[in-house]
Amino acid sequence: MNTWLSECEDKTQFGRKLLFWYDTNKRSMAWRDTDNPYHIWVSEIMLQQTRVDQMGSYFTRFINLFPTVEDLAGAKEDEVLKAWEGLGYYSRARNMLRTARQVVTEFHGKIPEAYDKLISLPGIGPYTAAAISSIAYGHDHAVLDGNVVRVLSRLFKISSDPRRAVIKAQMMEVAENLLVPERPGDYNQAMMELGACVCTPKTPKCNVCIVASKCRAYKELDDPASLPRKQKRKMKPHYQVVAGLIWRDHEILIAQRPKDGMLGGLWEFPGGKQEEGESFEECLIREIREELDFDVIVENLLHSVDHSYSHFSITLHLYCARYFSGQPKTMGCADWRWISPDRFDDYAFPRSDLKIIEYLEKTEYFKTALSMSENGKK
Ligand code: SF4
Repeated sequence: MNTWLSECEDKTQFGRKLLFWYDTNKRSMAWRDTDNPYHIWVSEIMLQQTRVDQMGSYFTRFINLFPTVEDLAGAKEDEVLKAWEGLGYYSRARNMLRTARQVVTEFHGKIPEAYDKLISLPGIGPYTAAAISSIAYGHDHAVLDGNVVRVLSRLFKISSDPRRAVIKAQMMEVAENLLVPERPGDYNQAMMELGACVCTPKTPKCNVCIVASKCRAYKELDDPASLPRKQKRKMKPHYQVVAGLIWRDHEILIAQRPKDGMLGGLWEFPGGKQEEGESFEECLIREIREELDFDVIVENLLHSVDHSYSHFSITLHLYCARYFSGQPKTMGCADWRWISPDRFDDYAFPRSDLKIIEYLEKTEYFKTALSMSENGKK
């Protein structure tokens, strides 16, 4: 037994206090007051990499589009990616579709109860399996996400690095031990809620914290926020990316990203990363040849946007370009289409491309470009 566990002796009182606080202070959320396992699964997958305050409308829209796991299983991948548009980390959406199909074929349309079965499904790891099993079905499985790690680190003044496997395993043991068996799902949500709303990363609100009397960091440290131990952040690399709004008559070329890579299956304005010594115009010509095997004439810069991913950031420059010669081929992309600008809504785009589309629509670029083209001036 690890030393922190011996400090959990009055865990019943701890659990009672925490649940009392949760019952009276929890934030209202569309997916919280339900025991529908399908809704809980969808919300947990969304929450893996999306903040609660950004998720509300996405969850409702997704459930309206696919009200049951059977509806989701019967959807096309493009439809699911479109419903996921803006949430990022699109492998989550593809895994959800695979899981929904597996649930329908192997589990008669019922999201499994057992942790072992849940964890065997695509996109479901230890955290999500424990969350679904406890919240939807009331099984005794503790969750250990970033919020819970922070709360436990401070409660028990754990100064070891929680990213180390051995420390994580010990924390899991403590989390399991503190679990309230009558209400495991609420207990898990209460710990996460405490971390999200009170025991926050930079400025924990210890003066209003329901468990302050049990917290070693509060009682023994000048600055409880110094735990958990933080790793120095590495500088993210930044890339210049050039893409083309390539016109042919009244249509624009969009390309689908390879399905197995980052942002797989999403549509975008074709282009790529600038190489050393290359101008933006040269970069675009090269990328179109490599990706689609045809030639373009690059015209003016339309707009640039910054976008940040988890491990790098980009500035995306969109140039107006005209189709020149050759036939598009799927050299470095999964598919391509010529579409009219009023059909962007039919395709799922990454957030960076959406920012550009929003800008071009706001400035009425497409309307102007099309009317100039009709008047023979384009
Ligand atoms: Fe976190 Fe402060 Fe509560 Fe301790 S007392 S759990 S540091 S908010």
